[in-house]
Amino acid sequence: RASISGQTAITVILAHPVAHVRAPQAMNAHYDALGYDGVLVPLQVLPEDLATVVAGLRRLRNLRGIVVTVPHKEAIASLCDELTADARQVGAVNVIRREEDGRLTGGQFDGEGFVAGLRGAGHEVTGRAVFMAGAGGAAAGLAFALARHGARRLTIHNRTAAKAEELAARVRAAYPACDTRAGGADPSGHDIVANATSLGMHEGDALPLEVARLAPPMLAAEVIMAPEVTPFLAEAAKRGCATHGGKPMLTAQIALLARFMGAIAVPCDR
Ligand code: NDP
Repeated sequence: RASISGQTAITVILAHPVAHVRAPQAMNAHYDALGYDGVLVPLQVLPEDLATVVAGLRRLRNLRGIVVTVPHKEAIASLCDELTADARQVGAVNVIRREEDGRLTGGQFDGEGFVAGLRGAGHEVTGRAVFMAGAGGAAAGLAFALARHGARRLTIHNRTAAKAEELAARVRAAYPACDTRAGGADPSGHDIVANATSLGMHEGDALPLEVARLAPPMLAAEVIMAPEVTPFLAEAAKRGCATHGGKPMLTAQIALLARFMGAIAVPCDR
């Protein structure tokens, strides 16, 4: 990028592995579209080096912020000086704002991105019954955001059932108005059926839930971005359900992450 100069707002994304990350292309396109002098640079960081790298990043005076992805989202939370309420709830950080004095404030927008992506495609979550497969980092973000945005009912299904129980209890405690429970693999009776596991990224992966139970007017929604059509989405489409891929979750998040890092001159509201 020939336009990078000493004035450019530098942001970085920490990942391992790093080759597959898609946020740099999306964020740099976002900066370009706004005519904003900023750049997001991918950095490969091993888990054992995370604390050292973060200590160094604190000292970089022209660093605006840090985007965080697999496998660092949970570990980096304890390296921040402050967390937003959303990051505290979820127990994971996917973006950090570097304050002028080097203090680090961690935020979490996975779930907000998912809900905003659905809304951008005309799918409302308020008042809906949602079935979600998964209880890992992304799933936790989705669960809290779905409840926060007024989902009526949330069923969480996970291979490790104890993790689904634990996540459901945390969401229930934070948002009692949403009827949140752990459940089996049958998504019958729900309006939105979401895959928030990593199943579907690799050839030969099992399906995340009982796809034979999918039927219109259910909407099948994915967090996985590649492949664009996962086996779960393909099975849902085969049964006549509307589908929603994983890309809008990232696209919707890009503007939220940039705002949070203070990388554009628009006040952040979270
Ligand atoms: P985690 O490792 O935290 O969680 C993985 C989840 O998948 C767990 O629920 C795990 O179940 C389940 N799982 C993994 N392997 C299997 C298996 N063989 N059988 C059954 N269940 C399995 O990952 P993340 O939550 O961080 O990421 C999940 C997905 O979300 C990834 O594909 C990631 O790329 C995507 N993502 C997409 C984003 C976007 O913007 N579109 C943003 C963030 C993430 P168990 O608890 O039993 O291990």
